[in-house]
Amino acid sequence: MSSMTTAIRGAAVAWRDDPFVVPPGEALRFERDAVLVMRDGHIEVFGPADAVLPRLPQEAPVTRYERSLIVPGFVDCHVHYPQLPIIGAGGHPLLEWLDRYTFPAEQAFADEGHARAVARSFLRELMRNGTTTAAVFCTVHAASAEALFAEAAPTGLRIVAGKCLMDRNVPDGLGDTAQRGYDESNALIDRWHGRGRLGYAVTPRFVASSSPAQLEAASALWREHPGTLLQSHLSENVEEVAWVRRLFPECADYVGVFDRFGLLGRGAIHGHGIHLSERERERLAETATALAHCPTSNFFLGSGLFDLAAAKRRRIPIPVGLATDVGAGTTLSMIATMGAAARVAQLRGNPLHPVQALWLATAGAARALTLEDRVGNLAVGLEGDAVVLDLAATPLLEERLRRVEAIDDLLAVLSTVGDDRCVRATYAGGMPVWVRGERAAEAQ
Ligand SMILES: [Zn+2]
Repeated sequence: MSSMTTAIRGAAVAWRDDPFVVPPGEALRFERDAVLVMRDGHIEVFGPADAVLPRLPQEAPVTRYERSLIVPGFVDCHVHYPQLPIIGAGGHPLLEWLDRYTFPAEQAFADEGHARAVARSFLRELMRNGTTTAAVFCTVHAASAEALFAEAAPTGLRIVAGKCLMDRNVPDGLGDTAQRGYDESNALIDRWHGRGRLGYAVTPRFVASSSPAQLEAASALWREHPGTLLQSHLSENVEEVAWVRRLFPECADYVGVFDRFGLLGRGAIHGHGIHLSERERERLAETATALAHCPTSNFFLGSGLFDLAAAKRRRIPIPVGLATDVGAGTTLSMIATMGAAARVAQLRGNPLHPVQALWLATAGAARALTLEDRVGNLAVGLEGDAVVLDLAATPLLEERLRRVEAIDDLLAVLSTVGDDRCVRATYAGGMPVWVRGERAAEAQ
């Protein structure tokens, strides 16, 4: 077995525990001078430099990063790669935005050449933003998922994705049928699930665009293939919620629709969850169903303000991860998304601690995807995903951070004025996949 070793050194943070459960100061581990050693795709050693360096072979090269902070690779737990070409097309609420911009753009993904080109741009952007794991929606076309998986395989990124299931209330050319959706998803699972770092997510787009028969087929697919995820959208927009109630009058509420078709449970992650009742939250909590919080998307479409405190401050907290939801989301930067989550929390009257924001963008999102034993932390045995953030990325950031001592304050400033410019290097599966200024380091 070939041995591929990468070692990096610098200030670093990792997780001891969940900062929504224990005080943030106890949950976060901060090392002023750490060494991270990754071998054969996994983290072999992580600890203070003075303890680790004497144990390394003399000749082992260690890349040292000054004025930087090494953090676990970011995890974006809800994003649509086919919407990258329409990012910023706005001015309309959800349902109109889908009809005007999204559905027309998604028509083009019947062509695998187009899909592969957009997938390449998307994956390159993930690496440039320090995102090493993502849960991705494709379009209804099996070719769109095929293209993403084929392009992702050689990158070393951990990508979970699925073709959308949508067999009603969608334009011509963008629909499948319950049977066809089932068969195509089955074939994609056989071909890609568990291959390298790739995984499959059964993807009913949202319950308004799937017939009851298709929702039943989605549940069957998910249960027939243990280890696959199930991803959809839930309670994003008031008009959409009212529509779902009209489509499923026999269900108590939006979560009740998922319940009826067996689409709740550990390994299910639904985007948004903004307009939920207490009954719905309780049902999500007791079934360990996760929510993807997408603050920039919610601002952009004017969908509403996610109530994070209501999801977390309860007897059984709901697993929540942070997500960009591009193309309704306005950035692929998880750093900027952390800042946006803080703004939503402010407007909700429950400020978000900066350490909690980082958790939501790393280990919290990993847990929402049930990948916490693989990614989201710098810990021995986990996959070698890390991002080196440049603390002098812009003159303002450098100037501002000169006045900062505590790690909490540093994270707060970083997520307020930082973005993709802060990403100096991205390591995925133990290898550098993107280094600023070095095109050769790109996987493509
Ligand atoms: Zn979405």
